Amino acid sequence: MAKNYYDVLGVSKGASQDEIKKAYRKLANEHHPDRGGSGEKFKEINEAYQVLSDQNKRSQYDQFGQTFEQAQRQGGFGGGAGGPFGGSDFSQGAGFGFGNGGGFEFDFGDIFSDIFGGAQERSSRRTRGVDLEMPLDITFEESVFGAEKEISLDKINQCALCAGSGAASGSKIITCPKCHGSGSIKTARRTILGTMSSTTVCDRCEGFGKIPEVPCPECKGSGVKRGKKTIRVRIPAGIADGQRIRVPGEGEAGYRGSASGDLYIIVRAAASREFARRGFDLYKDIEIGFTQAALGASVEVGTLYGAVKIKIPPGTQSGKVFRIGGKGVQHLNRSGKGDLYVTVRVHVPEKLSKRQKELLKQLQETEGE
Ligand SMILES: [Zn+2]
Ligand SMILES: [Zn+2]
Repeated sequence: MAKNYYDVLGVSKGASQDEIKKAYRKLANEHHPDRGGSGEKFKEINEAYQVLSDQNKRSQYDQFGQTFEQAQRQGGFGGGAGGPFGGSDFSQGAGFGFGNGGGFEFDFGDIFSDIFGGAQERSSRRTRGVDLEMPLDITFEESVFGAEKEISLDKINQCALCAGSGAASGSKIITCPKCHGSGSIKTARRTILGTMSSTTVCDRCEGFGKIPEVPCPECKGSGVKRGKKTIRVRIPAGIADGQRIRVPGEGEAGYRGSASGDLYIIVRAAASREFARRGFDLYKDIEIGFTQAALGASVEVGTLYGAVKIKIPPGTQSGKVFRIGGKGVQHLNRSGKGDLYVTVRVHVPEKLSKRQKELLKQLQETEGE
């Protein structure tokens, strides 16, 4: 925390201009670096005097104290992490609505908007292209076996004519004459708190520091153009509903050759009529006759990979689960497969022939034994 300006000069809060001047002269003499004083201390004294010797600045300082000191020090609030607002990332504009060239709109009153006005920083377009996100419907089979899909996107693409450079064919890229290549322009503004310097993105080159001598006629120098683009996307085997596939570089193209954003595909996989899926395991029910359950049987079960036979031991109860190893879903991006769990449902016949009825009655009679 910076020292209080009054303490720096060793005067009281109610000190007159004369007292302040006297105190300053004495201290400045004492701490002048030419006479072996500390440069840091000397700077501090000067800073304090600059504010307290100016009636306007002094009354602002009395009112706003520390905030004011920091504003002074940083020449506005553009100066990064040290300031009261340094922690926030205004340039992104995400939650705040700043950043797209509009002025800041703080609600702190005129004085503050005046201070902060100096720090106003237009977002540079020198950033990578925007990431895109899109849903993609696929079948259950495509989700378990993988697929290759063609996707058509309407997005900002790299200009085909200039390959993103923004320069017309044969034209050179030159140093921006307005900012001399720095990409930013320093301006000093007078505010009631004194002169505030601020840095804004150069509007000529939009922060790149370089401009095409002759802009590309197709994209007007931006290096990008909106249009349809068809891409092929590989859906990996084993992907599940709701998972994302990242397609690097297939988001929107970056301005004037900056890196492109990525495309994120949100998979919407249809459910299967036959199988329920949990992770990489599959589940299904099969029906067997009650004699099969009682006497045991070999029954065929449909799997993703064709029919297999399973042995139903004698005395199998309805609801018993059999595991068929390796007949589940292919693991995503690694080898191996999940399992298939088969739940047996014992079917009781609704209608019986006369002979069946007789046999069952005989069976029933034996049950008492
Ligand atoms: Zn172009
Ligand atoms: Zn420039």
